[in-house]
Amino acid sequence: MYLYNSATHKKELFTPNDPNLVKMYTCGPTVYHFAHIGNLRTYIMEDILEKALRYEGYHVKRVMNITDVGHLASDADTGEDKMLKGAKRENKSVMEIAQYYTEAFFADCEKLNIKKPDIIQPATGCIPEFIAMVQGLLDKGFAYFAGGNVYFDTSKLEKYYVFNDHDEEDLNIGVREGVEEDTNKRNKNDFVLWFTKSKFEDQALKWDSPWGVGYPGWHIECSGISLKYLGEDLDIHAGGIDNAFPHHTNEIAQTESFIGHKWCNYWFHVHHLNTDTGKMSKSKGEFLTVSLLEQKGYDPMAYRLFCLQSHYRRNLVFSWENLDNAAVSYEKLIAKIAQLKNEGEVDTQALEALKEKFLTALRGDLNTSLAVTAVYDVLKAKTNDATKLAALADFDQVLSLNLLQAAAKLRDRQAQEEAASADPEIDALVAARTEAKKAKNYAEADRIRDELKARGIEIIDTPQGAKWRKV
Ligand code: AMP
Ligand code: ZN
Repeated sequence: MYLYNSATHKKELFTPNDPNLVKMYTCGPTVYHFAHIGNLRTYIMEDILEKALRYEGYHVKRVMNITDVGHLASDADTGEDKMLKGAKRENKSVMEIAQYYTEAFFADCEKLNIKKPDIIQPATGCIPEFIAMVQGLLDKGFAYFAGGNVYFDTSKLEKYYVFNDHDEEDLNIGVREGVEEDTNKRNKNDFVLWFTKSKFEDQALKWDSPWGVGYPGWHIECSGISLKYLGEDLDIHAGGIDNAFPHHTNEIAQTESFIGHKWCNYWFHVHHLNTDTGKMSKSKGEFLTVSLLEQKGYDPMAYRLFCLQSHYRRNLVFSWENLDNAAVSYEKLIAKIAQLKNEGEVDTQALEALKEKFLTALRGDLNTSLAVTAVYDVLKAKTNDATKLAALADFDQVLSLNLLQAAAKLRDRQAQEEAASADPEIDALVAARTEAKKAKNYAEADRIRDELKARGIEIIDTPQGAKWRKV
């Protein structure tokens, strides 16, 4: 599989360290609010990546953190802890907020068929690991203690910016929101590994440490959790493009300094979901959630399809009109699949040819829109329905669009509707008309037709016999 690697700025053939096991880390949500559909775009595409790797035959061990401490309002280490902000907003404790929004996040993921990672680790559960890592960085001379906090010293690195092909806007995010200069920092890009001196006396969660009571910085969480569960050689690290800087840049700096060698081989970044006014963002207050889409009558699968129709390395603009188009496409697609009958033997040769197209799409830097086209190709293919159904079931292991389940549901609904509109009296009259026609009693046949017409029923003669419908 070829994947674009943000660290080398090239599409590369993906080769894991261990040919049978892919070690994958993904940055999880900061659980101070609901995830918006922009965040979920990132998780949908990471889900596709994981499933595509499994489809290729790899075992995947995937780890995700839950940020429940240390992510300050600005990615550049200033402002209030987002969790505390959320707790104040809702008059609850930080842990209550964390639990509530963690559950809400996974409920949204389930609606969108986003698989749960193998390991989910809240940051507050790994404090000793973070402390050990900070101590290691101090011992090796990559960190310093100033003004009560421990900072990473970026001047000790040969190269700090590794993702420098991003556009200005992406790189500036951490800096833009940081209105205050931290005078303890020796260099502009230094970042906090451990806080004790927070401006906010009411920081809810604090732990004892060699540097005083405090709490970890956001970046150390992902490094510590990844090292704990996936070891020192990571295959792939994923996140939204806004995480490339400063978050992932800092993760690389501290992890490689700590372990003393290269850490992660591939960096996978999903570009943003934007609205017409810019990036969708939780801190802006007003944002769209999966529940809101449902309230408006959208099937979450329509949103998943909407995301799959565009490439993960392009910004995607959300508008209701665009979502409507995806919803209509989804309905039509399911209606077509519902017409397939599970008849005949699967033609393995035809199935392999269909799969080949699908696999080629995934192998080309996860081209999901081409993968969706491969679904339409199945419907048009000159093969029997059993083969088509087998191909669709196969593709849906990655796409997770509920293709067959939704089609089965639609068929059930259609059968129920038909049953609900059944009327034995009308059926008997239609049968009597058929008998009259057979007996060449056309006057009687016409009389019955007229009687039914007067009752708002139209008879349709089909090769399978006379049917009727209400007009
Ligand atoms: P957060 O919960 O704020 O830590 O963000 C969770 C994930 O969503 C991170 O990987 C972010 O990079 C990503 N993200 C944030 N905003 C957007 C957006 N508008 N579109 C796509 N991904 C986003
Ligand atoms: Zn992270």
